[in-house]
Formats: sequence, structure tokens, C-alpha cells
Amino acid sequence: MRRALLFLAILAAFFATDVRAEKQIKVVATIPDLADMARQVGGDLVDATSLATGVEDIHAVPMKPSFVVVLNRADVVVLMGLEAEHAFLPALLGASRNPRIQRDAPGYIDASIYVPLLEVPSRLDRSLGDQHPMGNPHINLDPVRAKSMVRAIAEGLSRNYPEHAPVFQKNAAVYLRELDAAIARWQAQAAPLRGKRLVSYHPDLIYFVERFGMENFGTIEIRPGVDPTPAHVADLIQRMKQAKVEIVVRELHYPAGLAETVAKATGAQLVELPAMVGGVPAATNYIAFVNYNVETLVKALTK
Ligand SMILES: [Zn+2]
Repeated sequence: MRRALLFLAILAAFFATDVRAEKQIKVVATIPDLADMARQVGGDLVDATSLATGVEDIHAVPMKPSFVVVLNRADVVVLMGLEAEHAFLPALLGASRNPRIQRDAPGYIDASIYVPLLEVPSRLDRSLGDQHPMGNPHINLDPVRAKSMVRAIAEGLSRNYPEHAPVFQKNAAVYLRELDAAIARWQAQAAPLRGKRLVSYHPDLIYFVERFGMENFGTIEIRPGVDPTPAHVADLIQRMKQAKVEIVVRELHYPAGLAETVAKATGAQLVELPAMVGGVPAATNYIAFVNYNVETLVKALTK
């Protein structure tokens, strides 16, 4: 008898969680930053997952068969946009055969729509191998631009689920206040970074650099997605020495060797940073991610 009751209790618990999962809005984000923002906005109403884990290059997330299954069941997809996910998302959306989340469908939530952009090219030319055809898409590294992303996500969820719009707007307002407080803290903490010149492997730090009063000096890559040549690296090293550039950033998904060489040749500090949430174990959510980047850079410059 007792065993039968236990069995029924387990069965009831199973169905209870199943029903809740069934009712939750299935949000599939391309990167963990967006999944975190969707969770902040959606609260218990959403079940948000991310395709990338955070250690990948956003321009080259390896496609897995499981992504197609996840996208097939998604109610909405949240992406960075600006063709940052060009290498994998269009193919996956096609394979998912899910009409709710195709481009121009209501469930296609582009987080970049309200974000002011830098490095917008005057002409689109993919023959150059450019990974940034619409302008620099690495908006997630700037916490102020992240606020615009949160607004776009709240609006996108509200468009699909107008009955929950008041909840989304309220949750978003709470999270935006939390971000504002964190931004004020980061601005104070980043004082030692002001005026410092920085070289990174890929131009994914430009919004961060501008936000905290630093200067983008150049990249180890020739152009976004175009590998360096020995002549480019030699020229970069010479210019860095003349300008006394103090920081070389290796984003963790790029190879270590060249960044080390450049740092050693110029006497600059080599700093390793993640480009998204999940890129290092400490970057468990969006605020922790920006925390990590600010703290790591300040530590490298003040030691
Ligand atoms: Zn890029």
C-alpha cells in the first residue's frame, strides 16, 4: 500500500512538472547572453536554452543534429542579428521546418534592432571574407547596448504573447535597473582603463573599449574573419611599439601563439577574455560576464 502511494506521488510529481514544462514558452537563443536576458524578461513563463555554450566563436558555432530538434520545438528564437550567426543559424532554421521562427515570422526575435552600431560598411562585399557585413555585431560586450537588447527581447516576447506583455515589461524594467546599477559600478571600477590602447585578435571588443574610455588600436586578424599574415603581424608590432600599446587581448576561442608573440614582442600585457557568457566558468550570467571582463582587464593593468 505504502509503495503504491509512493508510486502515485512520483507519478503526480512527474505530470505536474511535465504540465508546467508544456506550458512554458520555449525560447531558443543562439548564445547564452541572450538566453540569460530572455530568462530575466520571461521569468517562470519561459524555458530558455542556448545553442552555443559560450566557448565558441559566434561566427562559427559548430552545428549539431540536436540543434535542429531544439529549434523544431521552439516557440521563439532569439539572435544577435547583423549576420553574426550567418555561418550556422540560417541553415539550422531551414532544417528545423518550424514556421514560427523563420526570418520575418513573429517568433524571430532579433536583439540588435535598437542598438546603435559602429563600423557599418559603406558597401556589402562578402568576397572580402568579411564576417561583419552589417556593421560590428559584438554588441553583447557593451552593457549599455545590452539594455537595448533586453528591450528588443521584451518587445519580441510581448509580440508573440500579448497576454503576458505586462509581466515581460515589469521584469525587463527590474532587470534594466539592475544593469544600470552594475554599469555605474563598472564605470568606477574601470577608471584605470581610461585612455589605454588595446589590440585584440578579432574586433569584438570595440563597443566595450569605447564604453570604458579605452582606444581600439588594431587587431591581429587583418579583417574580421581574415587570418593574419607575417607582414601584417610585423607591421602591427612596429606600430604598437611606437604607440606604446599596453594591452593585447586574446579572446579565448582564438589561438594563443600569435597573441603571445605580439605581447612578448611589444612588452604589452596579454589578457585572455571570453566573448560571451559561459566563455569562462565565472561568467555564469550576463552581469557576471561583464564583471569578469572589467575585473580581469583592471587587474592586468594595475598589477
Ligand atoms: Zn566578429
